[in-house]
Amino acid sequence: MEAHVVNPWVAAAYLIAGICFILALRGLSSPATSRTGNRYGMIGMAIAVATTLVTHEIASLPEILVAIAIGGGIGFAIARRIPMTAMPQLVAAFHSLVGLAAVLVGIAAYYNPAAFGILEPGGLDILKGSRIEMGLGVAIGAVTFSGSVIAFAKLNGNMSGAPILLPARHVINLGALLAIVVLVSLFHWNTPTLFWAIVLLSFAIGFLLIIPIGGADMPVVVSMLNSYSGWAAAAMGFTLHNTAMIITGALVGSSGAILSYIMCKAMNRSFISVIAGGFGAEAGAGGAAAATDRPWKRGSAEDAAFLMKEAENVIIIPGYGMAVAQAQHIVREMADQLKAHGVGVKYAIHPVAGRMPGHMNVLLAEASVPYDEVFELEDINGEFAQCDVAFIIGANDVVNPAAKTDRSSPIYGMPVFDVEKAKTIFFIKRSMGGQGYAGVDNDVFYMDQTMMLLADAKKMVEDIVKALAD
Ligand code: NDP
Repeated sequence: MEAHVVNPWVAAAYLIAGICFILALRGLSSPATSRTGNRYGMIGMAIAVATTLVTHEIASLPEILVAIAIGGGIGFAIARRIPMTAMPQLVAAFHSLVGLAAVLVGIAAYYNPAAFGILEPGGLDILKGSRIEMGLGVAIGAVTFSGSVIAFAKLNGNMSGAPILLPARHVINLGALLAIVVLVSLFHWNTPTLFWAIVLLSFAIGFLLIIPIGGADMPVVVSMLNSYSGWAAAAMGFTLHNTAMIITGALVGSSGAILSYIMCKAMNRSFISVIAGGFGAEAGAGGAAAATDRPWKRGSAEDAAFLMKEAENVIIIPGYGMAVAQAQHIVREMADQLKAHGVGVKYAIHPVAGRMPGHMNVLLAEASVPYDEVFELEDINGEFAQCDVAFIIGANDVVNPAAKTDRSSPIYGMPVFDVEKAKTIFFIKRSMGGQGYAGVDNDVFYMDQTMMLLADAKKMVEDIVKALAD
C-alpha cells in the first residue's frame, strides 16, 4: 500500500483548475473567444496557486512567498526590458528554467522522499511506483534544459546559428536515446549511480539534439522544447502525486506538440526528424547574398496611394517589420480608407510570420482589424493571381519564391505566399541590404511589377494614409 493520501478538497480544487485550463485552450483556438479563454486560464492558475499555498506541505508559506517574489520580480523585470526582436531567445531561456526546475525537484525528491510523501510505508526507499516517473521527469527536464540553453545561445548569437554536424550523429542520437530508455527502466532498482547517469546522459542528449539544427528552423525547435517542458512537469506530477502538475504538464506538452506539428507543416519539415533532432541540417547553410546591383524600382507613398485607390482588391501581407515599427494601427487606418474607396481589403497571415506563433494575429487584433478580413496561408494563396495589389509590410522570408525554387536556400520547402502572381507589388522595408530572418536575398525585390517603398513601415504607411486623404 502507498502512504500518500490526497486531501479530497485539494484534488477537487486541482480538478477545477484543470477544467479551467482546458476551457482556456478551447477559448484560445479562435481570436473571437481568446479573451474568455485567457480569463479561464487566469482563474485556473489562481485556483491552482492558492490551493498549493493553502496546503503547503513541503515549505513554509513565507518561504514560498519569498521564492515567488524573487522569481516573479526577475521575470517581470526581464520581460519588460526585452525587445520584441529577442522574444524567441527569451522563450528558449524560460523553457530552460522549466527543465531545470523539473531536474531540481527530482533531485530534491530523490534525496528527501519523505518530505514529498513518496516513501515506502515503514521503509527507507522511494515508492516503487514513483521511480520510473521520477526517472522520466528528470530525463525530459534535463533534455529540455540543455536543449533550450543551446537554442538560446544560437538565437542570441552566442553560438553560430549554422548547424554543427557530428559524424554519425544519427547513430549517436539513437544510441543515446536507447540508453536513456534502458536506464530509466532499470531505475526501478533505484541506485544513486543510475539516477545521476540518467541526469547526465539526458543533459548530453539535449545538447546533441539541438546543435545540428540551423537557425532558420529554430522556431519549431523552440515550440518543441516548450512541449518537452510540459512533459517533464507532467512526469514530476506523477512522481509527486500532484494532479495539477499532471494536467497542466500534459496540456502544455500536447499543445506544444500540436503547435510544433502545425509549424512543421507550415515550414514543410518532417515532424519526426524534429523530434529526433538534426532536421533541416541538410538544407544548406545559407542562400544567395544580397545582390543590390540588380535593377529594382523605387516607389513613393503617393504611387502606392494612387494605385491602391484604383485597385479592386488589395492583399496586405504583414511580417516581422510591421511588429518592429508597431505599424498595425496605421495599417488598419489605411485599410479603412481603402474600403471607403470601395477597395476590397484582406490580410494574409503566414504561420511563421513575425517571431512567435500568432504574432501577426495578436497585432492585428490589437488594432481591431475585423477577424473576417484575416486569412491563413492556405485559404488565401489562390487569390494572388486575381489580386491587383500585394502590399507587403515588413515581411520577407514568407514571400520569398526561393522557398519554391532554390534547393540550396535555407528556406527551401517552406510554403510561401505567391505574391509574384499579383499585378502590382508594394514592398515596404527600410533598405535593400536588410535581410529577413533567414538572411537570404529575395527575387521579389527585382520583379517588374514590384515597387520598393524604402522607409520605416509606420512612417511609410502614415504617408500613404495622408496621400489617400488628399
Ligand atoms: P523576416 O524576418 O523575413 O523579414 C522582416 C523584414 O522586415 C525585413 O525585410 C526587414 O528589412 C523588415 N523590417 C524590419 N524592421 C522594419 C521596420 N521598422 N520598418 C519596415 N521594415 C522593417 O520576416 P517574416 O515575418 O517575413 O518571416 C519570419 C521569419 O522569422 C521566418 O524566417 C521564420 O522562420 C522566422 N521565425 C519565426 C518565428 C515564429 O514563430 N513566427 C520564430 C523565430 C523565427 P529591413 O531590415 O531592410 O527593414
